[in-house]
Amino acid sequence: MIDAHIHYSGDTPETLRLLEQYDLKLLNICVAAGEWHPQIGLYRELTKRHADRYAWCTSFDLPDYTVSDREYASMVIAGLRRDFADGAIAVKAWKNIGMELTDRDDRFVLIDDEVFDPVYEFLVREGMPILMHIGEPLECWQPLREGSVHYGYYSKNPEWHMYNKPEYPTHAELIAARDRVMEKHPKLRLIGAHLGSLEYDVAEVAKRFESYPNFAVDVSARLGDLMVQDPQKVREFMVAYSDRVLFGTDIVCRKCHSEMTPDELDAMLAKTRATYDAYTRYFGTEEDVSFAGQTSKGLGLPADVLEKFSVTNAQTWYPGL
Ligand SMILES: [Zn+2]
Repeated sequence: MIDAHIHYSGDTPETLRLLEQYDLKLLNICVAAGEWHPQIGLYRELTKRHADRYAWCTSFDLPDYTVSDREYASMVIAGLRRDFADGAIAVKAWKNIGMELTDRDDRFVLIDDEVFDPVYEFLVREGMPILMHIGEPLECWQPLREGSVHYGYYSKNPEWHMYNKPEYPTHAELIAARDRVMEKHPKLRLIGAHLGSLEYDVAEVAKRFESYPNFAVDVSARLGDLMVQDPQKVREFMVAYSDRVLFGTDIVCRKCHSEMTPDELDAMLAKTRATYDAYTRYFGTEEDVSFAGQTSKGLGLPADVLEKFSVTNAQTWYPGL
Protein backbone atom coordinates (compact mmCIF):
# COMPACT_ATOMS: atom_id res chain seq x y z
CA MET A 1 0.00 0.00 0.00
CA ILE A 2 1.02 3.60 -0.43
CA ASP A 3 -0.17 6.03 2.21
CA ALA A 4 -0.18 9.19 0.09
CA HIS A 5 -0.80 11.58 2.98
CA ILE A 6 0.90 11.22 6.32
CA HIS A 7 3.18 13.11 8.73
CA TYR A 8 5.26 10.34 10.21
CA SER A 9 8.78 10.23 11.61
CA GLY A 10 9.07 6.50 12.02
CA ASP A 11 12.76 5.66 12.08
CA THR A 12 13.09 2.72 14.53
CA PRO A 13 13.55 -0.93 13.54
CA GLU A 14 10.13 -1.66 15.12
CA THR A 15 8.49 0.95 12.92
CA LEU A 16 10.22 -0.29 9.79
CA ARG A 17 9.11 -3.83 10.61
CA LEU A 18 5.51 -2.63 10.86
CA LEU A 19 5.79 -0.92 7.47
CA GLU A 20 7.18 -4.13 6.02
CA GLN A 21 4.35 -6.18 7.54
CA TYR A 22 1.74 -3.92 5.97
CA ASP A 23 3.84 -3.56 2.82
CA LEU A 24 3.59 0.21 3.16
CA LYS A 25 5.30 3.17 1.58
CA LEU A 26 4.56 6.55 3.16
CA LEU A 27 4.43 9.96 1.51
CA ASN A 28 5.39 12.43 4.23
CA ILE A 29 3.82 15.83 3.78
CA CYS A 30 5.40 19.09 4.96
CA VAL A 31 2.89 21.58 6.33
CA ALA A 32 3.89 25.24 6.17
CA ALA A 33 2.49 26.14 9.58
CA GLY A 34 4.65 28.22 11.91
CA GLU A 35 8.34 27.42 11.83
CA TRP A 36 7.96 24.50 9.44
CA HIS A 37 11.38 24.28 7.79
CA PRO A 38 12.74 21.54 10.14
CA GLN A 39 10.19 19.20 8.55
CA ILE A 40 12.17 19.45 5.31
CA GLY A 41 15.34 18.03 6.86
CA LEU A 42 13.44 15.40 8.80
CA TYR A 43 11.48 14.00 5.85
CA ARG A 44 14.35 14.42 3.38
CA GLU A 45 16.74 12.41 5.57
CA LEU A 46 14.17 9.73 6.38
CA THR A 47 13.57 9.32 2.64
CA LYS A 48 17.30 9.13 1.89
CA ARG A 49 17.81 6.45 4.53
CA HIS A 50 14.71 4.37 3.68
CA ALA A 51 13.81 5.13 0.08
CA ASP A 52 11.76 1.93 -0.16
CA ARG A 53 9.46 3.05 2.68
CA TYR A 54 9.38 6.83 2.50
CA ALA A 55 8.93 9.69 0.06
CA TRP A 56 8.36 13.36 0.81
CA CYS A 57 6.38 16.38 -0.31
CA THR A 58 7.65 19.87 0.47
CA SER A 59 5.78 23.13 1.01
CA PHE A 60 6.50 26.85 0.67
CA ASP A 61 6.47 30.01 2.76
CA LEU A 62 3.50 32.32 2.50
CA PRO A 63 3.97 35.84 1.16
CA ASP A 64 4.65 38.38 3.90
CA TYR A 65 4.25 41.31 1.47
CA THR A 66 7.58 42.89 2.35
CA VAL A 67 8.84 42.17 -1.18
CA SER A 68 7.19 42.46 -4.59
CA ASP A 69 4.97 39.62 -5.79
CA ARG A 70 7.57 38.80 -8.41
CA GLU A 71 10.37 38.53 -5.89
CA TYR A 72 8.16 36.39 -3.68
CA ALA A 73 7.40 33.96 -6.51
CA SER A 74 11.11 33.70 -7.40
CA MET A 75 11.94 32.86 -3.79
CA VAL A 76 9.28 30.16 -3.65
CA ILE A 77 10.43 28.68 -6.96
CA ALA A 78 14.06 28.66 -5.82
CA GLY A 79 13.04 26.75 -2.67
CA LEU A 80 11.02 24.27 -4.70
CA ARG A 81 13.91 23.70 -7.13
CA ARG A 82 16.17 22.96 -4.17
CA ASP A 83 13.68 20.54 -2.57
CA PHE A 84 12.88 18.76 -5.84
CA ALA A 85 16.63 18.30 -6.35
CA ASP A 86 16.70 16.89 -2.80
CA GLY A 87 14.08 14.29 -3.64
CA ALA A 88 10.75 16.00 -2.89
CA ILE A 89 8.14 14.73 -5.34
CA ALA A 90 5.36 17.26 -4.79
CA VAL A 91 4.42 20.45 -2.96
CA LYS A 92 1.67 21.11 -0.46
CA ALA A 93 -0.49 24.20 0.00
CA TRP A 94 -2.27 24.49 3.34
CA LYS A 95 -5.52 25.94 4.65
CA ASN A 96 -3.79 29.03 6.07
CA ILE A 97 -4.12 30.27 2.48
CA GLY A 98 -7.74 31.37 2.45
CA MET A 99 -8.30 31.23 6.20
CA GLU A 100 -5.42 33.10 7.80
CA LEU A 101 -3.15 34.91 5.35
CA THR A 102 -4.06 38.53 4.60
CA ASP A 103 -2.59 40.87 2.00
CA ARG A 104 -1.37 44.49 2.01
CA ASP A 105 -4.98 45.68 2.25
CA ASP A 106 -5.80 43.26 5.06
CA ARG A 107 -7.96 41.13 2.80
CA PHE A 108 -7.89 37.34 2.95
CA VAL A 109 -5.67 35.90 0.25
CA LEU A 110 -7.32 33.01 -1.58
CA ILE A 111 -5.53 30.15 -3.31
CA ASP A 112 -6.27 31.56 -6.78
CA ASP A 113 -4.59 34.87 -5.94
CA GLU A 114 -2.32 35.87 -8.79
CA VAL A 115 0.65 36.01 -6.42
CA PHE A 116 0.76 32.20 -6.77
CA ASP A 117 0.35 32.01 -10.56
CA PRO A 118 4.11 31.87 -11.36
CA VAL A 119 4.42 29.00 -8.89
CA TYR A 120 1.63 27.02 -10.60
CA GLU A 121 3.20 27.72 -13.99
CA PHE A 122 6.53 26.47 -12.69
CA LEU A 123 4.92 23.26 -11.38
CA VAL A 124 3.27 22.64 -14.75
CA ARG A 125 6.63 23.11 -16.50
CA GLU A 126 8.32 20.73 -14.07
CA GLY A 127 5.48 18.19 -14.21
CA MET A 128 5.20 18.35 -10.43
CA PRO A 129 1.90 17.83 -8.61
CA ILE A 130 0.47 20.04 -5.89
CA LEU A 131 -1.43 18.72 -2.89
CA MET A 132 -3.93 21.29 -1.69
CA HIS A 133 -5.58 21.31 1.68
CA ILE A 134 -7.82 24.29 1.08
CA GLY A 135 -10.75 25.03 3.34
CA GLU A 136 -12.02 22.73 6.01
CA PRO A 137 -14.88 20.27 6.37
CA LEU A 138 -18.25 21.94 5.85
CA GLU A 139 -18.92 21.30 9.55
CA CYS A 140 -16.33 23.97 10.31
CA TRP A 141 -18.89 26.65 9.35
CA GLN A 142 -21.76 25.01 11.22
CA PRO A 143 -22.67 25.07 14.91
CA LEU A 144 -20.77 22.54 17.03
CA ARG A 145 -22.79 19.36 17.28
CA GLU A 146 -21.73 16.65 19.69
CA GLY A 147 -21.32 13.30 17.95
CA SER A 148 -20.64 14.85 14.54
CA VAL A 149 -17.58 13.64 12.63
CA HIS A 150 -15.39 16.65 13.39
CA TYR A 151 -16.75 17.61 16.80
CA GLY A 152 -13.53 16.52 18.50
CA TYR A 153 -11.32 18.76 16.38
CA TYR A 154 -13.43 21.93 16.48
CA SER A 155 -14.23 21.65 20.16
CA LYS A 156 -10.46 21.49 20.81
CA ASN A 157 -9.35 23.98 18.12
CA PRO A 158 -11.89 26.82 18.31
CA GLU A 159 -9.54 29.15 16.41
CA TRP A 160 -10.27 27.05 13.30
CA HIS A 161 -14.03 26.84 13.91
CA MET A 162 -15.64 29.35 11.55
CA TYR A 163 -19.21 29.29 12.75
CA ASN A 164 -20.42 32.82 13.49
CA LYS A 165 -17.27 34.42 12.09
CA PRO A 166 -18.67 36.28 9.08
CA GLU A 167 -15.41 38.14 8.55
CA TYR A 168 -13.83 34.92 7.26
CA PRO A 169 -14.38 33.48 3.76
CA THR A 170 -17.11 30.86 3.55
CA HIS A 171 -16.59 27.22 2.65
CA ALA A 172 -18.14 27.87 -0.77
CA GLU A 173 -15.78 30.80 -1.44
CA LEU A 174 -12.71 28.74 -0.59
CA ILE A 175 -13.81 25.82 -2.76
CA ALA A 176 -14.66 28.17 -5.65
CA ALA A 177 -11.17 29.70 -5.41
CA ARG A 178 -9.59 26.23 -5.58
CA ASP A 179 -11.78 25.36 -8.57
CA ARG A 180 -10.69 28.58 -10.31
CA VAL A 181 -7.05 27.49 -9.97
CA MET A 182 -7.94 24.39 -12.00
CA GLU A 183 -9.77 26.47 -14.58
CA LYS A 184 -6.86 28.86 -14.96
CA HIS A 185 -4.17 26.14 -14.89
CA PRO A 186 -5.80 23.12 -16.53
CA LYS A 187 -2.46 21.31 -16.89
CA LEU A 188 -1.63 21.57 -13.19
CA ARG A 189 -1.91 18.17 -11.54
CA LEU A 190 -3.82 18.91 -8.37
CA ILE A 191 -4.64 16.52 -5.54
CA GLY A 192 -7.29 17.72 -3.12
CA ALA A 193 -6.39 16.58 0.39
CA HIS A 194 -9.17 15.27 2.62
CA LEU A 195 -11.58 14.55 -0.26
CA GLY A 196 -10.90 18.03 -1.59
CA SER A 197 -12.75 19.48 1.43
CA LEU A 198 -15.96 18.12 -0.13
CA GLU A 199 -16.08 15.32 2.40
CA TYR A 200 -19.79 15.77 3.14
CA ASP A 201 -20.96 14.33 -0.19
CA VAL A 202 -19.07 12.20 -2.70
CA ALA A 203 -21.39 13.61 -5.42
CA GLU A 204 -19.70 17.01 -4.92
CA VAL A 205 -16.30 15.42 -5.51
CA ALA A 206 -17.67 13.63 -8.59
CA LYS A 207 -18.85 16.96 -10.06
CA ARG A 208 -15.29 18.32 -9.90
CA PHE A 209 -13.87 15.13 -11.42
CA GLU A 210 -16.22 15.66 -14.37
CA SER A 211 -15.11 19.28 -14.80
CA TYR A 212 -11.40 19.01 -14.04
CA PRO A 213 -9.51 16.07 -15.55
CA ASN A 214 -6.31 16.90 -13.63
CA PHE A 215 -8.02 16.71 -10.25
CA ALA A 216 -7.74 13.79 -7.83
CA VAL A 217 -8.40 13.55 -4.09
CA ASP A 218 -7.03 11.64 -1.15
CA VAL A 219 -9.29 10.26 1.58
CA SER A 220 -6.91 11.15 4.39
CA ALA A 221 -8.51 11.95 7.76
CA ARG A 222 -11.97 11.67 6.21
CA LEU A 223 -12.82 8.04 6.78
CA GLY A 224 -15.52 9.11 9.26
CA ASP A 225 -17.07 11.38 6.61
CA LEU A 226 -17.32 8.49 4.16
CA MET A 227 -18.70 6.23 6.88
CA VAL A 228 -21.69 8.52 7.54
CA GLN A 229 -22.67 8.39 3.83
CA ASP A 230 -24.62 5.54 2.24
CA PRO A 231 -22.09 2.71 1.65
CA GLN A 232 -23.71 1.86 -1.69
CA LYS A 233 -23.33 5.44 -2.91
CA VAL A 234 -19.71 5.64 -1.74
CA ARG A 235 -18.95 2.29 -3.36
CA GLU A 236 -20.39 3.43 -6.69
CA PHE A 237 -18.32 6.61 -6.46
CA MET A 238 -15.13 4.67 -5.72
CA VAL A 239 -15.76 2.35 -8.68
CA ALA A 240 -16.82 5.09 -11.11
CA TYR A 241 -13.77 7.23 -10.29
CA SER A 242 -11.37 4.43 -9.55
CA ASP A 243 -8.46 6.36 -11.12
CA ARG A 244 -8.99 9.53 -9.09
CA VAL A 245 -9.08 8.60 -5.40
CA LEU A 246 -5.91 7.99 -3.38
CA PHE A 247 -5.44 6.17 -0.11
CA GLY A 248 -4.03 8.22 2.76
CA THR A 249 -4.55 8.37 6.52
CA ASP A 250 -3.08 11.67 7.74
CA ILE A 251 -1.61 10.05 10.83
CA VAL A 252 0.26 12.89 12.55
CA CYS A 253 3.39 11.92 14.46
CA ARG A 254 6.01 14.63 14.45
CA LYS A 255 8.19 13.23 17.20
CA CYS A 256 10.87 10.88 15.86
CA HIS A 257 10.13 7.34 16.95
CA SER A 258 13.76 6.97 18.02
CA GLU A 259 13.23 9.79 20.54
CA MET A 260 10.17 8.19 22.12
CA THR A 261 10.05 6.22 25.35
CA PRO A 262 9.24 2.51 24.85
CA ASP A 263 5.66 3.19 26.04
CA GLU A 264 5.21 6.10 23.67
CA LEU A 265 6.51 4.03 20.79
CA ASP A 266 4.23 1.11 21.64
CA ALA A 267 1.23 3.45 21.76
CA MET A 268 2.19 5.05 18.45
CA LEU A 269 2.63 1.72 16.70
CA ALA A 270 -0.67 0.46 18.11
CA LYS A 271 -2.41 3.59 16.81
CA THR A 272 -0.74 3.11 13.43
CA ARG A 273 -1.92 -0.49 13.20
CA ALA A 274 -5.46 0.38 14.31
CA THR A 275 -5.66 3.11 11.68
CA TYR A 276 -4.48 0.91 8.80
CA ASP A 277 -6.70 -1.93 9.96
CA ALA A 278 -9.78 0.33 9.99
CA TYR A 279 -9.08 1.81 6.55
CA THR A 280 -8.35 -1.56 4.95
CA ARG A 281 -11.43 -3.16 6.53
CA TYR A 282 -13.68 -0.31 5.40
CA PHE A 283 -12.50 -0.25 1.78
CA GLY A 284 -11.65 -3.91 1.36
CA THR A 285 -14.33 -5.89 3.22
CA GLU A 286 -18.06 -5.80 3.86
CA GLU A 287 -17.60 -6.13 7.61
CA ASP A 288 -18.90 -3.57 10.07
CA VAL A 289 -16.14 -1.07 10.82
CA SER A 290 -15.91 1.32 13.76
CA PHE A 291 -13.52 4.23 13.62
CA ALA A 292 -13.37 7.75 15.04
CA GLY A 293 -16.79 7.47 16.63
CA GLN A 294 -18.55 6.22 13.47
CA THR A 295 -19.69 2.75 12.47
CA SER A 296 -20.44 1.60 8.94
CA LYS A 297 -20.53 -1.44 6.74
CA GLY A 298 -17.36 -1.79 4.67
CA LEU A 299 -17.40 -1.11 0.93
CA GLY A 300 -15.88 -4.42 -0.18
CA LEU A 301 -14.31 -2.84 -3.24
CA PRO A 302 -13.32 -5.14 -6.12
CA ALA A 303 -9.63 -6.13 -6.16
CA ASP A 304 -8.76 -4.02 -9.21
CA VAL A 305 -10.35 -0.87 -7.72
CA LEU A 306 -8.62 -1.53 -4.41
CA GLU A 307 -5.25 -1.92 -6.13
CA LYS A 308 -5.64 1.44 -7.91
CA PHE A 309 -6.87 3.15 -4.77
CA SER A 310 -4.13 1.87 -2.50
CA VAL A 311 -1.13 1.68 -4.85
CA THR A 312 -1.23 2.69 -8.50
CA ASN A 313 -3.18 5.95 -8.29
CA ALA A 314 -0.55 7.37 -5.94
CA GLN A 315 2.12 6.42 -8.48
CA THR A 316 0.17 8.04 -11.31
CA TRP A 317 -0.66 11.30 -9.52
CA TYR A 318 2.72 11.55 -7.79
CA PRO A 319 5.00 10.32 -10.59
CA GLY A 320 8.07 10.57 -8.32
CA LEU A 321 6.75 7.69 -6.21
ZN1 LIG B 1 -2.13 16.18 6.74
